[in-house]
Amino acid sequence: MLEAAQIIDGKKISAEIKEELKKKISGFLTVSDENKLDERFSRPPCLAVILVGPASHYYVSSKEKSCETVGIKSIKKIMAASISKEELLQQIAEFNKDQGIDGILLQLPLPEHLREFTQDIVDSISVDKDVDGLTTANLGRLLSNSKSAIHPCTPKGCMELLKRYGIKTEGKRVLVIGRSTLVGLPISILLNQANATVIMAHSRTTNLEEECKSADIIVAAIGKPNYIQGSWLKAGAVVIDVGINAVMQVQADGSELKKIVGDVDFKTASEKASFITPVPGGVGLMTVAMLLSNTVELYLRKIVYNLN
Ligand code: NAP
Repeated sequence: MLEAAQIIDGKKISAEIKEELKKKISGFLTVSDENKLDERFSRPPCLAVILVGPASHYYVSSKEKSCETVGIKSIKKIMAASISKEELLQQIAEFNKDQGIDGILLQLPLPEHLREFTQDIVDSISVDKDVDGLTTANLGRLLSNSKSAIHPCTPKGCMELLKRYGIKTEGKRVLVIGRSTLVGLPISILLNQANATVIMAHSRTTNLEEECKSADIIVAAIGKPNYIQGSWLKAGAVVIDVGINAVMQVQADGSELKKIVGDVDFKTASEKASFITPVPGGVGLMTVAMLLSNTVELYLRKIVYNLN
Protein backbone atom coordinates (compact mmCIF):
# COMPACT_ATOMS: atom_id res chain seq x y z
CA MET A 1 0.00 0.00 0.00
CA LEU A 2 1.20 3.49 -0.82
CA GLU A 3 2.10 5.84 1.99
CA ALA A 4 0.43 9.26 2.10
CA ALA A 5 2.40 11.97 0.34
CA GLN A 6 4.85 14.18 2.16
CA ILE A 7 3.51 17.72 2.34
CA ILE A 8 5.74 20.34 0.75
CA ASP A 9 5.34 23.01 3.37
CA GLY A 10 5.34 26.43 1.71
CA LYS A 11 4.62 28.12 5.02
CA LYS A 12 7.75 26.71 6.62
CA ILE A 13 10.02 27.29 3.62
CA SER A 14 8.76 30.82 3.00
CA ALA A 15 9.33 31.65 6.69
CA GLU A 16 12.90 30.29 6.41
CA ILE A 17 13.53 32.41 3.31
CA LYS A 18 12.17 35.53 5.00
CA GLU A 19 14.41 34.88 7.98
CA GLU A 20 17.43 34.50 5.67
CA LEU A 21 16.55 37.76 3.90
CA LYS A 22 16.04 39.58 7.19
CA LYS A 23 19.53 38.54 8.36
CA LYS A 24 21.04 39.49 5.02
CA ILE A 25 19.44 42.96 5.04
CA SER A 26 20.28 43.70 8.65
CA GLY A 27 23.84 42.55 7.89
CA PHE A 28 24.17 45.19 5.15
CA LEU A 29 22.78 47.92 7.34
CA THR A 30 24.84 47.12 10.44
CA VAL A 31 27.71 49.37 11.44
CA SER A 32 31.03 47.53 11.02
CA ASP A 33 33.66 46.83 13.73
CA GLU A 34 35.46 50.00 12.73
CA ASN A 35 32.23 51.81 13.55
CA LYS A 36 31.71 52.65 9.92
CA LEU A 37 28.54 52.08 7.97
CA ASP A 38 29.31 51.01 4.43
CA GLU A 39 28.00 54.12 2.68
CA ARG A 40 26.58 52.09 -0.17
CA PHE A 41 24.04 50.78 2.31
CA SER A 42 22.68 54.12 3.45
CA ARG A 43 19.16 52.91 2.81
CA PRO A 44 17.29 49.60 2.92
CA PRO A 45 15.97 47.86 -0.24
CA CYS A 46 12.76 49.43 -1.51
CA LEU A 47 9.80 47.93 -3.34
CA ALA A 48 7.14 50.10 -4.99
CA VAL A 49 3.74 48.51 -5.58
CA ILE A 50 1.19 50.02 -7.95
CA LEU A 51 -2.38 49.01 -7.40
CA VAL A 52 -5.04 50.01 -9.91
CA GLY A 53 -8.53 49.82 -8.45
CA PRO A 54 -9.67 47.94 -5.38
CA ALA A 55 -9.30 44.32 -6.59
CA SER A 56 -6.19 43.03 -4.85
CA HIS A 57 -5.89 45.06 -1.64
CA TYR A 58 -5.62 41.91 0.46
CA TYR A 59 -2.61 40.61 -1.48
CA VAL A 60 -0.94 43.99 -1.46
CA SER A 61 -1.31 44.45 2.28
CA SER A 62 0.14 40.98 2.90
CA LYS A 63 3.09 41.90 0.66
CA GLU A 64 3.53 45.16 2.63
CA LYS A 65 3.58 43.25 5.92
CA SER A 66 6.13 40.79 4.58
CA CYS A 67 8.36 43.65 3.41
CA GLU A 68 8.24 45.19 6.86
CA THR A 69 9.09 41.87 8.53
CA VAL A 70 12.34 41.46 6.59
CA GLY A 71 13.37 45.14 6.54
CA ILE A 72 12.38 46.13 3.00
CA LYS A 73 10.83 49.58 2.64
CA SER A 74 7.60 49.44 0.69
CA ILE A 75 5.80 52.21 -1.15
CA LYS A 76 2.20 51.72 -2.18
CA LYS A 77 0.58 53.77 -4.92
CA ILE A 78 -3.16 53.23 -5.20
CA MET A 79 -4.63 54.52 -8.45
CA ALA A 80 -8.32 54.89 -9.32
CA ALA A 81 -9.80 52.00 -11.30
CA SER A 82 -10.78 54.51 -14.01
CA ILE A 83 -7.27 55.86 -14.75
CA SER A 84 -6.08 56.05 -18.33
CA LYS A 85 -3.20 54.06 -19.79
CA GLU A 86 -1.20 57.33 -20.05
CA GLU A 87 -1.67 58.13 -16.36
CA LEU A 88 -0.48 54.68 -15.40
CA LEU A 89 2.52 54.91 -17.74
CA GLN A 90 3.35 58.29 -16.19
CA GLN A 91 3.37 56.78 -12.69
CA ILE A 92 5.61 53.92 -13.79
CA ALA A 93 7.97 56.42 -15.47
CA GLU A 94 8.25 58.33 -12.17
CA PHE A 95 9.13 55.17 -10.27
CA ASN A 96 11.62 54.18 -13.00
CA LYS A 97 13.45 57.49 -12.44
CA ASP A 98 13.41 57.34 -8.65
CA GLN A 99 16.88 56.22 -7.49
CA GLY A 100 15.49 55.19 -4.12
CA ILE A 101 13.33 52.45 -5.62
CA ASP A 102 14.79 49.03 -6.48
CA GLY A 103 11.76 47.06 -7.61
CA ILE A 104 8.42 48.02 -9.17
CA LEU A 105 5.47 45.68 -8.95
CA LEU A 106 2.34 46.35 -10.96
CA GLN A 107 -0.45 44.35 -9.36
CA LEU A 108 -2.30 42.31 -11.98
CA PRO A 109 -4.88 41.86 -13.35
CA LEU A 110 -5.52 45.42 -14.47
CA PRO A 111 -9.10 46.77 -14.75
CA GLU A 112 -11.01 45.69 -17.83
CA HIS A 113 -10.37 48.82 -19.95
CA LEU A 114 -6.59 48.46 -19.53
CA ARG A 115 -6.36 44.70 -19.82
CA GLU A 116 -5.60 44.57 -23.54
CA PHE A 117 -2.57 46.83 -22.90
CA THR A 118 -1.23 44.76 -20.00
CA GLN A 119 2.02 43.61 -21.65
CA ASP A 120 2.73 47.12 -23.07
CA ILE A 121 2.23 48.63 -19.63
CA VAL A 122 4.34 45.96 -17.91
CA ASP A 123 7.03 46.57 -20.55
CA SER A 124 7.25 50.22 -19.52
CA ILE A 125 8.78 49.08 -16.20
CA SER A 126 12.55 49.40 -16.42
CA VAL A 127 14.03 45.91 -16.81
CA ASP A 128 16.39 46.77 -13.95
CA LYS A 129 13.41 47.31 -11.63
CA ASP A 130 11.27 44.46 -12.97
CA VAL A 131 10.84 42.62 -9.68
CA ASP A 132 8.13 40.33 -11.07
CA GLY A 133 10.29 39.40 -14.06
CA LEU A 134 7.40 39.82 -16.49
CA THR A 135 8.73 42.42 -18.94
CA THR A 136 9.41 41.17 -22.45
CA ALA A 137 13.05 42.20 -21.98
CA ASN A 138 13.41 40.11 -18.84
CA LEU A 139 11.56 37.14 -20.34
CA GLY A 140 14.09 37.31 -23.20
CA ARG A 141 16.90 37.16 -20.67
CA LEU A 142 15.19 34.19 -19.05
CA LEU A 143 14.85 32.40 -22.36
CA SER A 144 18.53 32.90 -23.15
CA ASN A 145 19.45 31.67 -19.66
CA SER A 146 21.16 34.99 -18.90
CA LYS A 147 22.46 35.50 -15.37
CA SER A 148 20.84 38.94 -15.39
CA ALA A 149 17.33 37.45 -15.73
CA ILE A 150 15.01 37.94 -12.80
CA HIS A 151 13.02 34.77 -12.34
CA PRO A 152 9.26 35.46 -12.13
CA CYS A 153 8.11 35.04 -8.53
CA THR A 154 5.69 32.09 -8.71
CA PRO A 155 7.87 29.93 -11.01
CA LYS A 156 10.90 30.78 -8.88
CA GLY A 157 8.94 29.78 -5.77
CA CYS A 158 8.08 26.39 -7.32
CA MET A 159 11.73 25.76 -8.19
CA GLU A 160 12.81 26.75 -4.69
CA LEU A 161 10.34 24.30 -3.13
CA LEU A 162 11.68 21.47 -5.30
CA LYS A 163 15.25 22.40 -4.40
CA ARG A 164 14.66 22.69 -0.67
CA TYR A 165 12.88 19.33 -0.58
CA GLY A 166 15.77 17.72 -2.46
CA ILE A 167 13.54 16.79 -5.40
CA LYS A 168 15.72 16.28 -8.47
CA THR A 169 14.45 17.46 -11.83
CA GLU A 170 17.31 16.29 -14.04
CA GLY A 171 16.10 13.65 -16.49
CA LYS A 172 12.62 13.68 -14.96
CA ARG A 173 9.51 13.85 -17.08
CA VAL A 174 7.73 17.01 -15.95
CA LEU A 175 4.26 17.96 -17.06
CA VAL A 176 3.45 21.67 -16.79
CA ILE A 177 -0.29 22.24 -17.15
CA GLY A 178 -1.02 25.83 -18.22
CA ARG A 179 1.07 28.05 -20.49
CA SER A 180 0.46 31.60 -19.23
CA THR A 181 3.26 34.17 -19.35
CA LEU A 182 2.82 34.59 -15.60
CA VAL A 183 3.26 30.95 -14.55
CA GLY A 184 3.19 28.04 -17.01
CA LEU A 185 5.58 29.37 -19.63
CA PRO A 186 8.35 30.65 -17.34
CA ILE A 187 8.24 27.57 -15.11
CA SER A 188 8.59 25.33 -18.15
CA ILE A 189 11.68 27.32 -19.16
CA LEU A 190 13.21 27.06 -15.67
CA LEU A 191 12.51 23.31 -15.52
CA ASN A 192 14.01 22.84 -18.96
CA GLN A 193 17.11 24.71 -17.83
CA ALA A 194 17.18 22.38 -14.82
CA ASN A 195 17.47 19.49 -17.29
CA ALA A 196 13.95 18.12 -16.94
CA THR A 197 12.13 16.72 -19.96
CA VAL A 198 9.29 19.21 -20.04
CA ILE A 199 5.88 18.58 -21.56
CA MET A 200 3.48 21.51 -21.70
CA ALA A 201 -0.26 20.98 -21.60
CA HIS A 202 -3.01 23.55 -22.10
CA SER A 203 -6.72 23.82 -22.82
CA ARG A 204 -6.34 22.20 -26.25
CA THR A 205 -4.43 19.17 -24.95
CA THR A 206 -6.59 16.18 -25.82
CA ASN A 207 -5.13 13.50 -23.55
CA LEU A 208 -4.39 15.29 -20.27
CA GLU A 209 -5.12 12.25 -18.11
CA GLU A 210 -2.66 10.14 -20.12
CA GLU A 211 -0.03 12.89 -19.95
CA CYS A 212 -0.47 13.03 -16.17
CA LYS A 213 -0.05 9.26 -15.86
CA SER A 214 3.40 9.37 -17.43
CA ALA A 215 4.73 12.38 -15.49
CA ASP A 216 7.24 12.15 -12.62
CA ILE A 217 6.47 15.73 -11.60
CA ILE A 218 3.29 17.70 -12.31
CA VAL A 219 3.01 21.48 -12.07
CA ALA A 220 -0.64 22.48 -12.28
CA ALA A 221 -1.40 26.13 -13.15
CA ILE A 222 -4.77 26.20 -14.85
CA GLY A 223 -7.22 27.92 -12.49
CA LYS A 224 -9.78 25.10 -12.27
CA PRO A 225 -10.73 23.90 -8.77
CA ASN A 226 -9.76 20.29 -7.93
CA TYR A 227 -9.45 19.48 -11.65
CA ILE A 228 -6.54 17.00 -11.60
CA GLN A 229 -7.61 13.74 -9.98
CA GLY A 230 -5.46 11.42 -7.89
CA SER A 231 -6.37 8.52 -10.21
CA TRP A 232 -4.61 10.41 -13.06
CA LEU A 233 -1.26 10.34 -11.25
CA LYS A 234 1.60 7.92 -11.58
CA ALA A 235 2.28 6.36 -8.17
CA GLY A 236 4.94 8.40 -6.38
CA ALA A 237 4.59 11.49 -8.59
CA VAL A 238 5.50 14.92 -7.21
CA VAL A 239 2.68 17.47 -7.38
CA ILE A 240 3.20 21.22 -7.36
CA ASP A 241 -0.21 22.87 -7.29
CA VAL A 242 -0.07 26.53 -8.30
CA GLY A 243 -3.82 26.99 -8.59
CA ILE A 244 -5.67 29.35 -6.28
CA ASN A 245 -9.42 28.97 -6.67
CA ALA A 246 -12.18 30.25 -4.42
CA VAL A 247 -15.07 27.81 -4.04
CA MET A 248 -18.18 27.85 -1.86
CA GLN A 249 -18.48 24.84 0.43
CA VAL A 250 -21.72 23.80 2.09
CA GLN A 251 -21.35 23.43 5.87
CA ALA A 252 -23.13 20.93 8.15
CA ASP A 253 -25.69 23.59 9.06
CA GLY A 254 -26.43 24.27 5.39
CA SER A 255 -24.59 27.60 5.29
CA GLU A 256 -21.90 28.24 2.69
CA LEU A 257 -18.29 29.07 3.41
CA LYS A 258 -15.72 30.39 0.97
CA LYS A 259 -12.69 28.13 0.71
CA ILE A 260 -9.49 28.29 -1.31
CA VAL A 261 -8.53 25.13 -3.22
CA GLY A 262 -5.92 24.27 -5.81
CA ASP A 263 -6.14 22.84 -9.32
CA VAL A 264 -5.43 19.36 -7.96
CA ASP A 265 -7.88 17.31 -5.92
CA PHE A 266 -5.74 17.24 -2.79
CA LYS A 267 -7.49 14.36 -1.04
CA THR A 268 -7.12 11.79 -3.83
CA ALA A 269 -3.79 13.14 -5.10
CA SER A 270 -2.12 12.98 -1.69
CA GLU A 271 -2.93 9.25 -1.53
CA LYS A 272 -0.99 8.65 -4.76
CA ALA A 273 1.79 11.26 -4.82
CA SER A 274 5.13 11.10 -3.01
CA PHE A 275 5.25 14.88 -2.41
CA ILE A 276 2.48 17.46 -2.76
CA THR A 277 1.98 21.17 -2.10
CA PRO A 278 -1.21 22.03 -0.19
CA VAL A 279 -3.47 24.96 -1.12
CA PRO A 280 -3.35 27.17 0.82
CA GLY A 281 0.05 26.78 2.46
CA GLY A 282 2.09 25.86 -0.61
CA VAL A 283 3.18 27.86 -3.64
CA GLY A 284 1.21 31.05 -2.82
CA LEU A 285 3.34 31.91 0.19
CA MET A 286 6.48 31.23 -1.81
CA THR A 287 5.42 33.81 -4.41
CA VAL A 288 5.57 36.55 -1.77
CA ALA A 289 8.91 35.26 -0.41
CA MET A 290 10.36 35.32 -3.95
CA LEU A 291 9.10 38.87 -4.45
CA LEU A 292 11.15 39.89 -1.42
CA SER A 293 14.12 37.87 -2.67
CA ASN A 294 13.95 39.55 -6.10
CA THR A 295 13.75 43.00 -4.47
CA VAL A 296 16.94 42.29 -2.55
CA GLU A 297 18.60 40.95 -5.69
CA LEU A 298 17.79 44.13 -7.65
CA TYR A 299 18.98 46.26 -4.71
CA LEU A 300 22.30 44.45 -4.56
CA ARG A 301 22.78 44.72 -8.30
CA LYS A 302 22.31 48.46 -8.10
CA ILE A 303 24.07 49.22 -4.83
CA VAL A 304 26.89 46.69 -4.67
CA TYR A 305 27.56 45.56 -8.19
CA ASN A 306 26.59 48.83 -9.89
CA LEU A 307 24.85 46.88 -12.59
CA ASN A 308 21.71 48.96 -13.08
P1 NAP B 1 -4.37 31.82 -16.93
O1 NAP B 1 -3.62 32.96 -17.49
O2 NAP B 1 -5.85 31.83 -16.96
O3 NAP B 1 -3.84 30.51 -17.68
C1 NAP B 1 -4.45 29.27 -17.48
C2 NAP B 1 -3.76 28.25 -18.33
O4 NAP B 1 -4.39 26.99 -18.07
C3 NAP B 1 -3.89 28.50 -19.84
O5 NAP B 1 -2.66 28.24 -20.47
C4 NAP B 1 -4.96 27.52 -20.28
O6 NAP B 1 -4.77 27.02 -21.59
C5 NAP B 1 -4.75 26.37 -19.29
N1 NAP B 1 -5.96 25.60 -19.10
C6 NAP B 1 -7.19 26.04 -18.81
N2 NAP B 1 -8.05 25.02 -18.71
C7 NAP B 1 -7.33 23.90 -18.93
C8 NAP B 1 -7.65 22.53 -18.97
N3 NAP B 1 -8.88 22.09 -18.77
N4 NAP B 1 -6.67 21.65 -19.24
C9 NAP B 1 -5.42 22.07 -19.45
N5 NAP B 1 -5.04 23.36 -19.42
C10 NAP B 1 -6.00 24.27 -19.18
O7 NAP B 1 -3.98 31.56 -15.42
P2 NAP B 1 -2.59 31.81 -14.63
O8 NAP B 1 -2.42 33.25 -14.37
O9 NAP B 1 -1.50 31.06 -15.28
O10 NAP B 1 -2.95 31.11 -13.24
C11 NAP B 1 -3.24 29.73 -13.16
C12 NAP B 1 -3.66 29.41 -11.76
O11 NAP B 1 -2.59 29.72 -10.88
C13 NAP B 1 -4.85 30.23 -11.23
O12 NAP B 1 -5.59 29.43 -10.33
C14 NAP B 1 -4.20 31.36 -10.47
O13 NAP B 1 -5.02 31.89 -9.46
C15 NAP B 1 -3.02 30.64 -9.89
N6 NAP B 1 -1.88 31.50 -9.56
C16 NAP B 1 -1.30 31.26 -8.36
C17 NAP B 1 -0.19 31.98 -8.00
C18 NAP B 1 0.45 31.67 -6.69
O14 NAP B 1 1.14 32.50 -6.14
N7 NAP B 1 0.27 30.44 -6.18
C19 NAP B 1 0.32 32.98 -8.81
C20 NAP B 1 -0.28 33.18 -10.06
C21 NAP B 1 -1.39 32.42 -10.42
P3 NAP B 1 -4.85 27.99 -22.90
O15 NAP B 1 -3.55 28.69 -22.96
O16 NAP B 1 -5.03 27.03 -24.01
O17 NAP B 1 -6.01 28.89 -22.68
